[in-house]
Amino acid sequence: MNQLMYKSTRGSAKTVTASNAILKGIAEDGGLYVPDNIPTIDFNIDELVKLDYKALAYLVMSKFFTDFTEEELKSCIDKAYDSKFATEEITPVKKIGDSYLLELYFGPTLAFKDVALSILPHLLKTSVKKQGIDKNILILTATSGDTGKAALEGFTNVDGTEIIVFYPVEGVSTVQKLQMVTHKGKNTHVVAIKGNFDDAQTAVKNVFTDNSIQESLAEKGYLFSSANSINIGRLIPQVVYYFYSYISLYKKGEISKDDKINVVVPTGNFGNILAGYLAKNMGLPIDKLICASNENKVLYDFITTGTYDKNREFFITNSPSMDIIVSSNLERLLYFVSGKDSNKINELMTSLKVNGKYEITEDMKKQLSDFYGGYASEEETTDEIKALYDNYKEIIDTHTAVAYSVYNKYKKETKDATKTVILSTASPYKFPNAVMNVIDKKYFGLDEFKLINEMDKLSAYKIPQSIKDIDKKEVIHTKVCKKNEINQVVLDFIK
Ligand SMILES: *Cc1c(COP(=O)(O)O)cnc(C)c1O
Repeated sequence: MNQLMYKSTRGSAKTVTASNAILKGIAEDGGLYVPDNIPTIDFNIDELVKLDYKALAYLVMSKFFTDFTEEELKSCIDKAYDSKFATEEITPVKKIGDSYLLELYFGPTLAFKDVALSILPHLLKTSVKKQGIDKNILILTATSGDTGKAALEGFTNVDGTEIIVFYPVEGVSTVQKLQMVTHKGKNTHVVAIKGNFDDAQTAVKNVFTDNSIQESLAEKGYLFSSANSINIGRLIPQVVYYFYSYISLYKKGEISKDDKINVVVPTGNFGNILAGYLAKNMGLPIDKLICASNENKVLYDFITTGTYDKNREFFITNSPSMDIIVSSNLERLLYFVSGKDSNKINELMTSLKVNGKYEITEDMKKQLSDFYGGYASEEETTDEIKALYDNYKEIIDTHTAVAYSVYNKYKKETKDATKTVILSTASPYKFPNAVMNVIDKKYFGLDEFKLINEMDKLSAYKIPQSIKDIDKKEVIHTKVCKKNEINQVVLDFIK
């Protein structure tokens, strides 16, 4: 079989194999790695229904990670998708009214990030071995709330790795913060950055392309990589559950052969929905990719106008993992819709850096027709939580509620009756305040930990073990830094 190679969206970094792209995380020219071409799957649904999650994961990932042997890849998959997920299905689908919830939060940290971050450490370790590299890996990760804990969980005590997570002081929920600052594991570090997620992400990205810090690290025997969705090893495992959801609907008789489905994705950094775009281009019958934003609606504006403009007010919302103005993975989509034109990508990214905005060509806009952009205000989000509870006794988290709200707007506007899968990206137990206070006013004023216990009484799912008594755990990580101090923080850790 021909090897699938990876290129940088910005065109001047070397073309590399999958394992090399996973190791590097981001290309030297500042671009993101993309496969030379998007592989396709012979979409035979009657064959696909025979596969369980792991077998499906192998089928999808083997198309992308072609330099891994079957044994290597299967071993990574087995280690990732085991009993750390609360269900053997890994990502089950549940019918609610006329739509379907793809529940992605049964992993150890209660958000969809676990699906990719439980396999990434194994992909990385295998890549190190394959490349014959005799170095430790230093993982740097910026988090808007959920990636941090999921990455810590994935990398804890994986030998040959150290991980530093940077989270913004402004924004993350109490439960999210506690999950990180109480995390144990001798190779794990957590630092608060003064600022918001975009500040944290930009600071981390700059470390990756800073030659002097790269050299100091190399001297100490370290190599950088990233656990953010800029890493292709993070992105590809997310393609799997799009296939899984389609197969589930087919198995349950909810769709027939060759039917198309729509998907609604609560979006921040554009990683999850980009995985959906890859799934569609591999041959999965997806019609619309519905991109749902909260009040930070830069993607909605982009999809509807073709202009991306980050010069705007930043809102802290009750769906903090989507409080993002600079969506990294959009660069990958731009690359594909420009016909793989690196010059164009450089031009757009320079414009973003210099002017804070860019406008795509008419041709590129046409290529975006698979996407529909929508957004939900804070009030619409909480209304949706209340409506789902009142109508179906279903408790959803704030991010999923953003998606639901956009789904309802989409239906109203287009009258499209295509069966639709809504990606449920986090457990409501992570956001007890925002969720319980709208379900019933009587909860108002109770602290978050009491609310978790109250939620347990209403929910079909019991309090997950991982957050039980989290308020009583010892806080281990207390470091706070400014965004321009991050290089020094990194150097201090590896001393
Ligand atoms: C990270 C996250 C998102 C956004 O996903 P992207 O891949 O960054 O677009 C949405 N919901 C939750 C709960 C998340 O943790």
